[in-house]
Amino acid sequence: MKWNRIVVKLGGTIIILFLAVLLPVGFVTNQIFSAFYLNKVQEETDQLSARYADFLVETQDPMSVKMMAEFSQVNTFIVDVDGQIIVSADLEHFSKGAYIPKKELQQLSKGAAIEKEYTDSKSGIRYLVAGKPVANGNLFYGGVYILSSMEGIEQSVHKIRDLLILSGIGAFFIALGLTFVVSIKLSAPLVQMEKAARNIAKGDLETRVSVTSGDEMGSLAHAINDLAVDLLRYRDTRSEFFANVSHELRTPITYLSGYVNVIKEGLYQNEEEKNQYLDIIYQETGRLTHLIHDLFELSKMEEGKIVLDMEWIDLAEVIEQSVLKAGIKAKEKGLEIGIDLQNEIPAVYADKRRMEQIIMNLIENAIRYTEKGTVLVKMTGTDSDDYVITVEDTGIGIPHTELPYIFDRFYRVEKSRSREFGGTGLGLAIVKKLVEFQGGTIEVNSEVGCGTIFVLRFPMKPKEAV
Ligand code: ADP
Repeated sequence: MKWNRIVVKLGGTIIILFLAVLLPVGFVTNQIFSAFYLNKVQEETDQLSARYADFLVETQDPMSVKMMAEFSQVNTFIVDVDGQIIVSADLEHFSKGAYIPKKELQQLSKGAAIEKEYTDSKSGIRYLVAGKPVANGNLFYGGVYILSSMEGIEQSVHKIRDLLILSGIGAFFIALGLTFVVSIKLSAPLVQMEKAARNIAKGDLETRVSVTSGDEMGSLAHAINDLAVDLLRYRDTRSEFFANVSHELRTPITYLSGYVNVIKEGLYQNEEEKNQYLDIIYQETGRLTHLIHDLFELSKMEEGKIVLDMEWIDLAEVIEQSVLKAGIKAKEKGLEIGIDLQNEIPAVYADKRRMEQIIMNLIENAIRYTEKGTVLVKMTGTDSDDYVITVEDTGIGIPHTELPYIFDRFYRVEKSRSREFGGTGLGLAIVKKLVEFQGGTIEVNSEVGCGTIFVLRFPMKPKEAV
């Protein structure tokens, strides 16, 4: 058994605590009982000796005192004016003719009581000795002593002590057993979770912990299970991501190598055809550059390595610039492109370059997926502290079932037409990340054949700017 196990630590702590409480409590209880019994005997002995002394003064008859004492089973002896024992006790040391110590006699003659302990050397029994002077006014006759055996008290105190020790030992073992059971119950799920965590670390991401309790153990088990699920999802998306990346790279490279080969081998009819092939090569290299750029951007964002350059900007100006840039493409397709800035919008706190990237991306998508009609960019303030930018078009639209996925990397609605439209499938994933980095949200609404609207919502004053 390892010494750093929970069972040992918890058990040891509880037992130490238990002893720290039990030992002083036992000791104090024992002391209280002993003191209580001793006091009681002292009181009784004291009272009895005083009564016998009074009786002796009245009767002047030591033998009747002795008889009374024998009748009440009290051991007594009486001394005369010289301190000599005239009525003996049932103990050798206090037999008739013996003298009490001079000091005691002096004390008695002065009217003081005697109180002492005596241990019989033969039997080993301890006695409490109480002596009272027998005197009538100034006349001193001697003294009367009572000897109370402490054997009974000691026995009862011993019994109580034994009982305390016994119940202490019993309670100790019960605590030991309980500690053991509780600790095992506590450490079993931990051991299970440790195994599960190690399996997960080794890559067995299907591992789950089966702890069902609703306490902290249960929460930890849930957290481990959630972690495994997240890792599994991450692994799957990562594999999917690599598969997508290689697919996206392979397509233009196949085109490139094919057309380069055609030109190299001189497999073209005339200069015009050759120029067509060169155009395709140029477009494909452009697509590759675009893809690599987007991938690089996205990976930086996912690693959290992107640094925003936040400042107070005039967003209306950013929107106007973006619409101006994209306007040429819109005109080429015969589309109308417009801006609607409904209110007087105050300056907003944002990263200007990234904001332009977001809006440009949405406008370019709108133009790309619209054959006729309008592309409109609106900006409004709201009642709350948010401002809203919308980019809407009258294009081909997105089916409702596809809407939840369009912000995923490489997700394209019409796969067959993707090359025709020329996107990388990363644009909206990048837009979403850029929006979220600036504390905003992005939503989409669309009707197939009618058009699409992207709604961006940003806080007017992000927390760090206040
Ligand atoms: P892409 O580079 O292929 O455009 P995006 O991530 O920008 O990739 O968009 C993902 C998919 O969402 C697109 O392939 C397209 O099918 C769809 N989409 C995006 N914007 C629009 C839009 N304005 N109208 C219709 N479909 C759109």
